[in-house]
Amino acid sequence: DRERVQEILETAAQRSNRIGVEAMGILDAYGIPTPEGAIVETPEAAQEAAESISGDVVMKIVSPDILHKSDIGGVKVGVSEDGVRDAFEDLITRAKNYQPDAQILGVQVQEMVDLETGTETILGMNRDPQFGPLLLFGLGGIFVEVLEDTTVRVAPVSQREATEMLGEIDSAPLLRGARGREPVDEPALIESIQRLSQLVTDFPAILELDINPLVASPEGVQAVDSRLTVD
Ligand code: ADP
Ligand code: MG
Repeated sequence: DRERVQEILETAAQRSNRIGVEAMGILDAYGIPTPEGAIVETPEAAQEAAESISGDVVMKIVSPDILHKSDIGGVKVGVSEDGVRDAFEDLITRAKNYQPDAQILGVQVQEMVDLETGTETILGMNRDPQFGPLLLFGLGGIFVEVLEDTTVRVAPVSQREATEMLGEIDSAPLLRGARGREPVDEPALIESIQRLSQLVTDFPAILELDINPLVASPEGVQAVDSRLTVD
């Protein structure tokens, strides 16, 4: 809902106009599912957060000054419960080494998302001076720049346009169950494209936004990482 998004954006924008996972709640507010997670400020709180999530966790540095987290070793996948405290300290150290005056909001402790059955996609938006808000969909993950398998539409998009976007990337067969893989939940993916379309239509102050990865699996979709820029 709009009010919740407004609130989250205002809080985040007070710190910086570049915003990372601290604003993931805006996706949730618009019905784009996110994995269970929390942003914590101490090793003890990280431990508690990890204990409340079943299985191993992913831990990430949260800083408006570090929006490409893996570039500085700021993402740790598959952390077991007894590794959480050390991982917390290590993430903070890495961030400070990278940029001593970086504003550090904490560490995100997040549920693991299954990337065996799920496929990493990217769903994003940037505003073109001529065309307005452009939605981008494609194959995601850390190789997105290398693979460049994406497609674009002007928002707002209809259900039909969102469906077309899904179908026209080169990797569409991958999503539809190539090589004996189970097809991903296409309706959930199409719905997410439309929900992002609605979000950026409702909030012109969002200048650009990336969900990367949006993991699409047979069970639905999950926005695992996001960053945005506000006016
Ligand atoms: P960044 O893009 O800032 O480097 P991400 O949060 O996107 O950080 O993490 C980088 C990569 O780590 C993702 O593309 C994904 O492959 C993996 N990853 C991140 N979070 C999870 C998660 N919750 N479960 C499984 N893999 C994850
Ligand atoms: Mg990412």
